[in-house]
Amino acid sequence: MTQKNYQLPELIYDYDELAPFISEEQLRLHHAKHHQTYVNGANAIFDKIAMARKENIDLDMKAVLKELSFHLGGHILHSLFWRNLAPAGKAGGQPAGILAEKINSEFGDFARFKKEFSQTALTVEGSGWAALTHSLEDGRLLITQIEKHNVNLFPQSKILLVLDVWEHAYYLDYKNERTKFIEAFWKIVNWQEVEKNLEK
Ligand code: MN
Repeated sequence: MTQKNYQLPELIYDYDELAPFISEEQLRLHHAKHHQTYVNGANAIFDKIAMARKENIDLDMKAVLKELSFHLGGHILHSLFWRNLAPAGKAGGQPAGILAEKINSEFGDFARFKKEFSQTALTVEGSGWAALTHSLEDGRLLITQIEKHNVNLFPQSKILLVLDVWEHAYYLDYKNERTKFIEAFWKIVNWQEVEKNLEK
């Protein structure tokens, strides 16, 4: 078997650089422990699939693919989330350029977008994400709630910006006050990176 294993990506900032919005302890736990779990989970499922193919053993496809979608979804979303963030001195504020134009054209203005995205994040039930997506079908920007790591994704849509609202993302810093975490998130959004995702 020469399949490539998924790896935990290195952060492009240090663990303490998102403080006080995300503390060093919270970020370290989230990246090194929680994200690593999804990486390991995705690799374990691919090992299982590879073994079954090699031995020509039947798989419970429904169960295997559900598990794969969860772990791989978790890995991909966390990888994107880390790149969506930057230390406050290089982040926050408002987007510029084509991203700002598209946000204004879809939502009216940035304040309206921010409000809808925040309310999306706040009302995720249980574990999930708020995501800003770009429809490859018609070019619209759409917000969605991703339940867990994989439910409610639009087909043919590229995810530009995500906010993790699983409790493991904020509990050490904000306890049950998700609203405070969402407010903090806006201070560390790396809009240049989000715009790059749109241009890609
Ligand atoms: Mn997470």
